[in-house]
Amino acid sequence: MNRINFNVPPHTGREMEYISQAVANQKICGDGEFTKKCSSWIEAKTGTQKCLLTTSCTHATEMAALLADIKPGDEVIMPAYTFVSTADAFVLRGGIPVFVDIRPDTMNLDEKLIEDAITEKTRAIVPVHYAGVGCEMDTIMDIAKRHDLLVIEDAAQGIMASYNGKPLGTFGEFGCFSFHETKNYSMGEGGALLIRDEKYVEEAEIIREKGTNRTKYFRGQIDKYTWVNLGSSYLPSDMNAAYLYAQLEVADEINDARKASWNRYYERLLPLAEKGKIELPFIPEQCEHNAHMFYIKAADIEERSRLKKYLDDNKILAVFHYVPLHTAPAGIKFGRFHGEDKYTTKESERLLRLPMYYGLKPEEVDYICGKVKEFYTGA
Ligand SMILES: *Cc1c(COP(=O)(O)O)cnc(C)c1O
Repeated sequence: MNRINFNVPPHTGREMEYISQAVANQKICGDGEFTKKCSSWIEAKTGTQKCLLTTSCTHATEMAALLADIKPGDEVIMPAYTFVSTADAFVLRGGIPVFVDIRPDTMNLDEKLIEDAITEKTRAIVPVHYAGVGCEMDTIMDIAKRHDLLVIEDAAQGIMASYNGKPLGTFGEFGCFSFHETKNYSMGEGGALLIRDEKYVEEAEIIREKGTNRTKYFRGQIDKYTWVNLGSSYLPSDMNAAYLYAQLEVADEINDARKASWNRYYERLLPLAEKGKIELPFIPEQCEHNAHMFYIKAADIEERSRLKKYLDDNKILAVFHYVPLHTAPAGIKFGRFHGEDKYTTKESERLLRLPMYYGLKPEEVDYICGKVKEFYTGA
């Protein structure tokens, strides 16, 4: 068995053809043919009012923070078990991340703890759909409505996944997707902002185009464009969009292949879980996931380190991630944890992600599961 990587960026075969086409179009800056194709695809697939392709999910979240008009001192409720961008996008605007504990079963923020963290400064809730498994959106949307808060979904891992049949990223005012090379669909670096309500669209287009009304100009709605508000440059090159489109057009095929790997892992490892040696991911009934990741949980950090080393010695790269943000230097400086950290640290220390990518072979999954079993049972 060759060494098994943790991730291999998705590639379907038509990427170079589409990139060449973008170059031949002589429009390799933003908002060319492929950018339009990708955003239309996402709009059709998710039913969102508007999708704007961005340079990253981090930037999509920054746009959401600008659109939400987050001001210094405003509080934003989120889990601490997440990637830094979830918090950083708000900190850039002077916002204060208020971290609440996660649920140990899904690793998503615990919806039952949100209400207690709300103060008169709270402006938004930011659910992170970890591993493409939806947060408890009915409860979260209800809380937001009752307290007049915005919901900004970090759906970086959530494309093609849904909660009660509704695509992740379409519940809140804003949803943010990532197309980083580690995600299910990629353009190298990139993302998308999903906007639920028409009323934010024009301002979003201005923010994305350096604070100008250039998008309106390109549509022929005005005869010259000018600086109208604050903004930045959040639109990706059409060459990157061309790469992404080659994957979106076969999105179901990629999704099915990932789910086949996920299900195979689950079946092969179930006996170990039943013996109480490891824990497997939990998918709530309302959630249709997208096999973004397959993780297992060891007993504790010490056992996880030994397992990771054992797999590494057997040419399998397994990884963990997310040092909880409230324990990181910037998290301590800019945010605070509300309530007790019952699960965030403990569960994050147990979690180990197994190789998962488009193109992972069934025999590789079997080999990995065999080695995990060997570690625990010696056979
Ligand atoms: C990947 C990821 C991000 C960042 O995405 P980029 O496109 O790299 O900016 C943010 N949040 C979560 C939960 C992620 O997994």
